[in-house]
Amino acid sequence: MADASAPARLSAPAQALRRLGLLRDVDLALHLPLRYEDETRLTPIAGLREGEAAQVEGQVVDCRVEQRTRRQLLVRLRDDAGGELLLRFLHFHAAQQKQMAEGARLRVRGEARVGFLGREMVHPTVKPVAADAPLPQALTPVYPAAAQLPQAYLRKAITSALGRVSLHEVLPPGTAPAGLPGLRDAVRLLHQPPPQADQRSLQERSHPAWQRLKWEELLAQQLSQLQAQQARARLRAPALRAAADGLGARLLQRLPFALTAAQTRVVAEIAADLGRQQPMHRLLQGDVGSGKTVVAALAAAAAIHAGWQCALMAPTEILAEQHFRKLVDWLAPLGLTVAWLSGSRKGKARAQMLEQVAGGEAALVVGTHAVIQHDVAFHKLGLAIVDEQHRFGVAQRLALRHKLEGEKLEPHLLMMSATPIPRTLAMTYFADLDVSTIDELPPGRTPVLTKVFADGRREQVMLRIRDELAAGRQVYWVCPLVEESEHLDLQNATATHAELSQALPGVMVGLLHGRMPAAEKAAVMSLFTQGQMKLLVATTVIEVGVDVPNASLMVVEHAERFGLAQLHQLRGRVGRGSAASVCVLLYAAPLSATAKARLKAMVETHDGFEIARRDLEIRGPGEFMGARQSGDALLRFADLQQDGALLQHARAAAPRLLAEHPAAAQAQVDRWLAGRAEFLKA
Ligand code: ADP
Ligand code: MG
Repeated sequence: MADASAPARLSAPAQALRRLGLLRDVDLALHLPLRYEDETRLTPIAGLREGEAAQVEGQVVDCRVEQRTRRQLLVRLRDDAGGELLLRFLHFHAAQQKQMAEGARLRVRGEARVGFLGREMVHPTVKPVAADAPLPQALTPVYPAAAQLPQAYLRKAITSALGRVSLHEVLPPGTAPAGLPGLRDAVRLLHQPPPQADQRSLQERSHPAWQRLKWEELLAQQLSQLQAQQARARLRAPALRAAADGLGARLLQRLPFALTAAQTRVVAEIAADLGRQQPMHRLLQGDVGSGKTVVAALAAAAAIHAGWQCALMAPTEILAEQHFRKLVDWLAPLGLTVAWLSGSRKGKARAQMLEQVAGGEAALVVGTHAVIQHDVAFHKLGLAIVDEQHRFGVAQRLALRHKLEGEKLEPHLLMMSATPIPRTLAMTYFADLDVSTIDELPPGRTPVLTKVFADGRREQVMLRIRDELAAGRQVYWVCPLVEESEHLDLQNATATHAELSQALPGVMVGLLHGRMPAAEKAAVMSLFTQGQMKLLVATTVIEVGVDVPNASLMVVEHAERFGLAQLHQLRGRVGRGSAASVCVLLYAAPLSATAKARLKAMVETHDGFEIARRDLEIRGPGEFMGARQSGDALLRFADLQQDGALLQHARAAAPRLLAEHPAAAQAQVDRWLAGRAEFLKA
């Protein structure tokens, strides 16, 4: 087994291996190919088709560097049948040039373009070969790699790990579905497919060897879920029982509206959890505007009534402050103290606040990440609420739960999200989680009409803005996201702000962006909330949670640069009052196929669940919720939609295995999920 406490100075590829979590031999052995390349066949150059990946072999008849629009290396290759192919390299070094000198025999893989000037490949993979070099007999694996981690290095590391690793069966015989190969054979076959293996089912991941691996993975995941559930059942939390004449009931009476049926249902689900002695671990999901905040307030009231404190954490200062105001409005008249903690509150004010929190005087603490800083000590934290929970990392959610240290009790945890997670996916990402769903909007809302305009139709958009303003309503103008540069973002927002201010004399136009000091942001937001400011130009800082019911028009510039979930969140800022609202998505042509699909989805549906489903379809499950980047995705190989039968089998096998063979169950979990243990608990 590789030593986990390796020396400090690792080579770049070795460091990359670590970042991918490929530490142990077994981790490397279970790092299975992403796909395979078929190097077993040669295509005659004359038979190359546009866009097709293929391998050809031939002799270099010409090799030269030319200065066209830019300096490039052009190599002309002729195969034995006389077909000619141009290889084009825009980046190259001298060694490559030498390798491809006239007369050299090359095996070349790449995607063919068939153009006006004949056939060519841009930046193909090139390998010099002898005239009679045999073709490989099996598919060549291509592994998921990363920056600084060349395929060749990874292949070597995996091959050598395969030589050492044992991969003995840890499960009792007969546990796996009948007819599938053993684990060791399956792993070897997937890394080094023999020539006679069925190529198509290998590529499509339906081969029995793939099925075995997917089932193994699903089983480990099911087992770890069960373990997490059992672990939670052993934990204790304060039982927070609501009373009929309690704070919650009094808050309900004072609300200017009646709860929807869906809100009433989830409030009851949460109340039942809070009344138990096991910590609640519940996700409250509901589309933007479905009214999650008041549900949170009712949960807080229940906790406080039972004599405990409640903390509410939101991802941005704007959102946290908005929650703070609303909760003060609702709870202060009931005699409760609500404290506000944020990064921008410093010095004496902060010290005073901390004292109130530590002494228990503050019943409810609202804030940003500041709530989980180590100097924040609660008197008796009974309930932690996390809004837009997917914006927080695992570590942060855990930190919040650990705020009750020393009490031998865990606080209850309520997470809220407006990005609905399809049910099957929730299971994959969260080890042990109950889900409540608000599937209904408060009455009287008119759905937002969404229009997609090309950038050139700005004049028309201006007319629309003037109409809304004349009717006494307010407008958001959202500026594009320039991912590479916060600076450019800002420039664009500032320019748009100037332009709109000039076009609308006498109208107060505000500007809001991420880099403004918190106090300034709050001042702008409060002018807009109170209605003096009519038009707000903003970068995506308004993306989450902002609630100004009088705003009825939103313009999103460069909508093609936003993700689908993000557009849906943004659009949720309008349509919160009774006026008919419009969302205009401006785009700059040309649109990519995925951008087109996103904009189309926005026009066609308002349902957050449907949006999430389409998002998944457009992006693929691996990228959902940014999981691919963070490496947090629990399932690497199995696909819940495709592998339903395997999942069912694993689901049935897991409880039996855990009860009858706990050591085998643990070994299975360790093999697959060691190092992800904390994640599973969050
Ligand atoms: P979200 O679920 O997006 O967080 P909010 O909690 O911000 O939604 O609620 C959106 C708006 O709807 C708020 O102004 C809130 O006060 C209002 N609201 C919530 N529940 C109801 C209801 N049952 N009837 C009418 N308005 C409601
Ligand atoms: Mg909200």
